[in-house]
Amino acid sequence: MSNTAASDDEVFKYFHDVKIDHDNIAHYRGLMAKKLLINRCDDCGNWIYPHRPLCPKCLSWNVIPTPVSGKGRLYMYTLIMQSRDPDMPLTEPIQAAAIELAEQPGLRYLSRVVNCPVEVLAHDMPVALTWIEENGRFWPVFQPTGKAHG
Ligand SMILES: [Zn+2]
Repeated sequence: MSNTAASDDEVFKYFHDVKIDHDNIAHYRGLMAKKLLINRCDDCGNWIYPHRPLCPKCLSWNVIPTPVSGKGRLYMYTLIMQSRDPDMPLTEPIQAAAIELAEQPGLRYLSRVVNCPVEVLAHDMPVALTWIEENGRFWPVFQPTGKAHG
């Protein structure tokens, strides 16, 4: 991946199976560069997720995709035991999670937890951003902070 930001066409091509629209394209462009960008209101500082172009707090359109620290806590999770493709059974359950990001109470990013045995998963446990590669693409996921060097 080059250092210059991907064009719209490159984002559409890279995430051909994702519904990309005007409101989320900056987020996905960030993922291509391994950056987790969340919209932030440049007028009042409010973080906005899911991706929206308008600040729900002050009604400003001055919303800017901004990198987050990658620190957070496990707000809730569920285990996905079955993949959509019957020919590709999961070897272990996917830990789907809402991560409450450190930037703002209630700012919860939908992701996955990795490098963590299921029995260790716990509400409010501290987690940190890491990246996994799946089918040639990188995705932002979270792992317990004790494994931040892993
Ligand atoms: Zn605002």
